[in-house]
Amino acid sequence: MGVRAIVFDFFGTLTDPAAEAGRRESFTATAAALGVPADRFWQAMGASFPDRITGRYGDTRATLRRIARECGTDPAESDLDAAVRAQQAGAVLVRPPRPGVLDLLDRLRAAGYRLGLISDCSSELCEAWPETPYGPRIDAAVFSWQQGYRKPDLRLYEAVSARLGVPAAECWYVGDGGSREHDGARRAGMRPVLVTNAAYPDAAALRSDPDPYTPDLTIPDLDALPGLIET
Ligand SMILES: [Mg+2]
Repeated sequence: MGVRAIVFDFFGTLTDPAAEAGRRESFTATAAALGVPADRFWQAMGASFPDRITGRYGDTRATLRRIARECGTDPAESDLDAAVRAQQAGAVLVRPPRPGVLDLLDRLRAAGYRLGLISDCSSELCEAWPETPYGPRIDAAVFSWQQGYRKPDLRLYEAVSARLGVPAAECWYVGDGGSREHDGARRAGMRPVLVTNAAYPDAAALRSDPDPYTPDLTIPDLDALPGLIET
């Protein structure tokens, strides 16, 4: 079966894998705006991660209000305004495009492939998506925050396949291997491709819930993808 669509993971796959290391610093800025100790904020954000990425904390403003209260602070509306701005600015810093990836997406689309995305993400990415450089380049973006479930839930793969109008058997799923995403892709009937990020040795340590299943197709970086599709 040929490939007609390519579904990407977001963090560490389309984004620069080195950027994730800046997340703690960006959270520190948000914590300062909220008037919450940075360590407590970091801890509360980590503990709430499964609920935040499935939408249970609401949008960014509601999330930060609730996290602040969990940390023992009831922020004023003006502090919350500043915290939302800090959080959104920090989110921009951890999602710069991987070098060359925007051109790659343009080339794949020009070659006729439909492009999809499945991301386990919290509110910040969904709220900003249309304004990101990725938004206009992806035909169907599926977010855990909107769907209410996370990888490797098969419903995410079914949703992107349906929105692309391409059966799963004709989709490749390309990711850096967090969240057991490749096992989900395989079970959904897609062809999994692992991006090992060989040039980013520190990135693997930041991956959440790593996938123990390794696909037979692996590439060191995304620039090897077109060559793999051709073979
Ligand atoms: Mg990833």
